[in-house]
Amino acid sequence: MNGSTTRRTRQQCIDDVVKGNHILVRRGVLDSYGHISVRSPDDPGRFFLARAMAPATVEAGDIVELDLDGNPVHPESRKLYLERFIHGEIYRARPDVQAVVHSHSPTVIPFGISKVPMRPVCQLCGFIGQGVPLFEIRDAIGDGSDLLIRDGALGKSLAQSLGDKAVCLQRGHGAVTVGGTVAQVVGRSVYLELNARLQMQAITISGGDHDITYLSEAEIETIGAKLGDFERAWEAWCLEEDELA
Ligand code: MN
Repeated sequence: MNGSTTRRTRQQCIDDVVKGNHILVRRGVLDSYGHISVRSPDDPGRFFLARAMAPATVEAGDIVELDLDGNPVHPESRKLYLERFIHGEIYRARPDVQAVVHSHSPTVIPFGISKVPMRPVCQLCGFIGQGVPLFEIRDAIGDGSDLLIRDGALGKSLAQSLGDKAVCLQRGHGAVTVGGTVAQVVGRSVYLELNARLQMQAITISGGDHDITYLSEAEIETIGAKLGDFERAWEAWCLEEDELA
């Protein structure tokens, strides 16, 4: 449905991003904040993102086309997300990335503020094994910020922390997840939250994180060679949204 093998049209990309918003809310990744975008299939220097609003209520007419500096391509009077620079700067730094999620995924946040590294606990979360870097905003602009990615310079710093990985935690704030399709970035975002929950449960029943058997380097490498596109989950989640609409 998301057509990882076939090229998506502009309208399909917009529809994907609308669906992605709703799915991520239903799966507990987004609440009234956070956002998802997709790169334009017609121009790699542009992307589609909702205007500033709660993800649950996003419709196709709310999607705005932005350039990589975060400026709207067409005249726009509606309020835009303050943190749109996250998306533009990641698209600029990562030509392979076609979709970006910025969330305040609740179970993920403790891993950004503690010394316990997030590690993959199950096969579907193998993408985490590529590494989960941490963006510390104090390293970028010192202490005393509001932790928001307010401009292109902060967006660039965050993109640098992300590097070539699929996920980057933002200390005391949330995370960014990237993918090659909307389906993949939604799947990764949902399974990132799940991995955080499962890892925390394992730590709780083990009384610490030393006795847990995480995926091994070799397993991560094997899984990484055929990283999940999450198409099956995406199709099921889209069907569920259609039925509930
Ligand atoms: Mn945020």
